[in-house]
Amino acid sequence: MSISQLARTISASSTLVLNEKARILREKGEPVISLGIGEPKNKTPITALLSAAAKLSEGNIKYTPSDGTPSLKKAIIRYTEENYQRLVAPENVIVSAGAKQSITNIILSIVNPQDEVVLLAPYWVSYPEIVKLAYGIPVVVVPEDGTFKPRMEDIERAVGSYTQAIIVNSPNNPSGAVYSEEFIADIVDFCERKKIYLIADDIYHKLVFDGNQARPAYEFTHKDIESTMVIAVNGVSKSYGMTGFRIGWTIANRKLVEVMNNIQSQTTSGTSVLLQAGAEGALTGMQSVVESLRLTFENNRNVIMQELRSFNDIKVIKPEGAFYCLPDFRAYSNDSVELSKFILNKALVVTIPGKDFGMEGHLRLSFAGSIKDIMTAIERIKWTLDLNSPNEIYIGDRKLIRDWL
Ligand code: PMP
Repeated sequence: MSISQLARTISASSTLVLNEKARILREKGEPVISLGIGEPKNKTPITALLSAAAKLSEGNIKYTPSDGTPSLKKAIIRYTEENYQRLVAPENVIVSAGAKQSITNIILSIVNPQDEVVLLAPYWVSYPEIVKLAYGIPVVVVPEDGTFKPRMEDIERAVGSYTQAIIVNSPNNPSGAVYSEEFIADIVDFCERKKIYLIADDIYHKLVFDGNQARPAYEFTHKDIESTMVIAVNGVSKSYGMTGFRIGWTIANRKLVEVMNNIQSQTTSGTSVLLQAGAEGALTGMQSVVESLRLTFENNRNVIMQELRSFNDIKVIKPEGAFYCLPDFRAYSNDSVELSKFILNKALVVTIPGKDFGMEGHLRLSFAGSIKDIMTAIERIKWTLDLNSPNEIYIGDRKLIRDWL
């Protein structure tokens, strides 16, 4: 079988692979806990369900315009006005099958072979692979050791004549870091001056803790939507816990939206009309569901921080948003892939290796699950690694004794 050179350069999403591994173990009856999963546990908001169900019962499930139904686009325009203080036209909006497809279509629309896209480590696992899909080159800017926020001067140094875009994700997956307003203002200004696209992946923008906010990049440019280099990506997966609906969107200049739509219309066409109706129901329904999720994650963040602080040898930076933290486990191992495997084998806890996010020696722990799972999982990880923890533990109904430290 012949596999293309392009396909050979693309890795499977490690988060999806590990989540699948956890699912299989769970099906076999193993008491696996997943701190890998990047999705809220809530039930779908009722307004989303009602709206999708109404569409379903019409019995008229057909193609939609490939850039999205006019009514969902209208809801997105209202969302953009409320959250970004920007009035945009329907031609500035394109709905895709999740923010993942939105980012893919942007990259396919602006990157030529060998062009570069600057990523800020720690970065979302899919960015480098998406850039490679367009035959582009991901250029990673690493922050100073012990921090998750790259310095502007390092970003400026990474930008060259082949750079087409910088991707910024705040609150950040995998670290939970929220970049400062000053940083966002500086990077917007830099991209506008250099005529480089700034792709603001705002998928977690409503999930910020401690009374803070993640100010959108759009707020820091004076240029209008047709001339700014800022592009915003958002969706219903995280803020509304609607990962399975696969609805994301892009706000950008008309020309870019048109090109993205050409690509989308030749690949996936419009996303399902049912799921678009669901997303519309979420956006136009009670927004208290978002605040309720945010509060849950803030509480979970506090619990996981408390549990992690009792580990003597790991360093952890308090997440300011999203639902992940990225502790530094280098006191135990520099190889996060091996460490993650070891923890899964010994303690049946799924973690995601930091290597996949450009942060070797770290593990990404999701705190989107229940408090009970978080507490049990950290206790198990501690048992696996920390000599100071009791050397006996119950995992499910099996009593295990640690005999490797
Ligand atoms: N961006 C980031 C930073 C994410 O973490 C995710 C989901 N894990 C996405 C985009 C994609 O979201 P969607 O489910 O809308 O494709």
